Amino acid sequence: MSKSWGPTSPAGRTVLITGASSGLGEACALHLARTGFHALAGVRRPEDGERLRVAATGRLTSVIIDVTDEKSVQAALQKVTELTGGTGLWGLVNNAGIAVTAPLECVPMELLHRQFDVNVIGHLQVVQGFLPLLRAGAGRIVNISSGVGNVALPYLGAYAAAQFAKEALSDTLRRELVPQRIPVVVIQPGAVLTPLWDKMSDEGNRALNSVPKPVQELYRHSFQQFMKDNETSARTSRTTPDDVARVVFRALIAKRPKTRYTVGRDATGARVLARLLPDRAIDRILGGIVTPAR
Ligand code: NDP
Repeated sequence: MSKSWGPTSPAGRTVLITGASSGLGEACALHLARTGFHALAGVRRPEDGERLRVAATGRLTSVIIDVTDEKSVQAALQKVTELTGGTGLWGLVNNAGIAVTAPLECVPMELLHRQFDVNVIGHLQVVQGFLPLLRAGAGRIVNISSGVGNVALPYLGAYAAAQFAKEALSDTLRRELVPQRIPVVVIQPGAVLTPLWDKMSDEGNRALNSVPKPVQELYRHSFQQFMKDNETSARTSRTTPDDVARVVFRALIAKRPKTRYTVGRDATGARVLARLLPDRAIDRILGGIVTPAR
């Protein structure tokens, strides 16, 4: 096996994780620091970085990065270049993300832009910025996508569109970077209870309330039931942020990482469904989500 597929030891290797202030990113940053990497926790607020530094066992340094802000990405690049000296970066975990939830008829364009700015354009902006450091470190890219990157659920159209785009960017990057020996890995978690869910619910209700009343009434009952069921599936999910962090660790130390890892039975199920079933069959399975107005 060629050396450029990477050694299995995290010692002396540096990994940047975006969106590390909470949820999956926080779990990844703490886990990677605990297991011997130098974890660079990408956050937008210094106080989040300080909290993580105190919580970490092992080496963790915070880096301010807003993935949608070119200046912020450039400043982060400069800081990471200084921190890594000439050794480059071993891993870039693109985790920062938001999830817009609302019937597509109700999604304000401003929210749709934000969804793509963070999960798609911001993601690629960070990849472009950090590729020279990844080349220098014979490193790899780990993209946190979602089970929703396989099947576009009702009321998650904006998020699914962004996650499908992230999947496409990942596939293209993986193919383009083969000659440079930079592996690109996709992680698809299923539902995991994180602060994402409360944010989704608040914003989803605001989106629904932003359209004329008769339109609201077409969706209200069905959408609210969906949000309730969604929350229940997150609350009862057996998948934890640490499960995702462990898979990210595996992808980072594997000599030859898989192209995709699913985390959780729901994510694996979504992947299998999307690959095996025709559209109409999937429509029937998901049909129960959308109920007529009351
Ligand atoms: P959280 O809301 O807990 O975390 C999202 C993170 O993204 C936060 O650290 C947030 O920072 C950061 N972020 C948001 N906007 C930006 C930005 N412009 N620049 C930099 N960072 C930003 O959600 P999760 O941990 O659940 O989600 C993390 C990723 O996992 C997302 O990409 C999501 O799509 C994916 N995912 C989550 C699942 C789940 O069930 N939770 C399932 C499948 C995938 P800040 O605090 O500053 O806003």
